Amino acid sequence: MNYISTRNKYNISDNNFSKITMEGLAPDGGLYIPDNFPSLTSKEIYEMTNLSYSELFTEIIYKFCGSCVNKSDIYKIAADAYKDFGSEDLAPLTNYNDNIKILELYHGPTLAFKDFALQFLSRIFNLFLERGNKKITIIGATSGDTGSAAIEAFKNNPRANIIIIHPKGKVSEFQRRQMTTINANNVFNVALEGNFDDCQAVVKKLLIDKEFNDKHCLASINSINWGRVLAQVVYYFYSVFKVLKHDNGQFINFSVPTGNFGDAYAGYVAKKMGLPINKIVIATNSNDILSKFFQSGIYKVSEVIPTLSPSMDIQVASNFERLLFEYLNFNSALVTEYMTKLNTHGSFEISKEILYELNKTFIGVSVNDEITIERIRNCYSKKNIVIDPHTSVGLEAACSANLKGINIVLSTAHPVKFSSAVNQAIDTIPSLPNKYKNIFTLKEKYQSMPNDINEIKNFISINSSL
Ligand SMILES: *Cc1c(COP(=O)(O)O)cnc(C)c1O
Repeated sequence: MNYISTRNKYNISDNNFSKITMEGLAPDGGLYIPDNFPSLTSKEIYEMTNLSYSELFTEIIYKFCGSCVNKSDIYKIAADAYKDFGSEDLAPLTNYNDNIKILELYHGPTLAFKDFALQFLSRIFNLFLERGNKKITIIGATSGDTGSAAIEAFKNNPRANIIIIHPKGKVSEFQRRQMTTINANNVFNVALEGNFDDCQAVVKKLLIDKEFNDKHCLASINSINWGRVLAQVVYYFYSVFKVLKHDNGQFINFSVPTGNFGDAYAGYVAKKMGLPINKIVIATNSNDILSKFFQSGIYKVSEVIPTLSPSMDIQVASNFERLLFEYLNFNSALVTEYMTKLNTHGSFEISKEILYELNKTFIGVSVNDEITIERIRNCYSKKNIVIDPHTSVGLEAACSANLKGINIVLSTAHPVKFSSAVNQAIDTIPSLPNKYKNIFTLKEKYQSMPNDINEIKNFISINSSL
């Protein structure tokens, strides 16, 4: 399998899964995608339906690795990565009603779906680092959940220091404490004066600064990392198989609470591989750049609005570039032109024909805070299910899209992570899992910093692992 960059499709190298996973962002500023997606026949898909999660993971991921990793190594990684996900079933599917099901993806160690990707990524990184006897410095921007999932996955790793940048005052207290109370020598937290897009921009700048990057062996664990997207493909298969066992022949749609478009894009990859997915609903909060795009074909940046679902308070949805590249016929010059336009004019527009093609799969729905609260309340009073505000956005979008068939809503976080928002809707306080009983009294460690690339570089130089 070969990987190409969205900004320079001629930059192909053979068998480079390990390289592109460690690199995260391509040196030309683009994102990596396979030059050819593996596709499965319906017979091959049918034969996977009874596999365990780790077996299924192995079969799917192996197809993307070329000869970089062998199957038994992938299986070992999966079995180890997913051992702390609460129950035997890593991703329980509960009934909301006959047509809508909720896929609980928050039973991992930090209570959000991002554990699925980061627990895998830390282990595959280690495999490659041990092979090359190397060390790295991991940098990441977080709107809240990536940071804790990454820190949890990499803490005490002898081959990596990890530096996580979060927007100061813009993540929930529980989220912040999940990052800042981890007592490990290789973990560093930065609270940046800015929003998530500022944090993400800083990380991108550092990654494409070749000299600095080479010096500190930077690696990125943000959702632009192909390895993260890939790990998320698996639960789409897993949940569709569960539904097919009962409801064969129905359309299956997904509703995905969306910020950086990594999770939704993973669903699209599953569909491209042949999994029978009909529509993917892109559910956003009031930061509705993507939902508006899928309605109008216009991608227009505006100010980030703080909402009750902060992990989706994002304007520039990085992973979207992968989809755009494909729908622009793999024309990297055109992608570059659009991205430049976005930077200089704050918007671009695609043709009606391309929008029509995109809408065969994607529908955009945005949900404001008031409706988010209303849906949490309604879900609890009618179904006795407590959901977090991100899941509420997804559920509301599924209800309002009202698509035929079975609709699976991705439940992306445990309600306890956002208890103050949940409590605006209902009186029930989600109970803290045992592991987190002390979180509000533990000592925090983090560094506040202005949005200044030189100060951040300085901080990294002091705290890199090299
Ligand atoms: C990160 C996150 C999202 C958004 O996922 P993307 O892959 O960035 O679209 C949604 N919900 C929660 C709880 C998250 O942590």
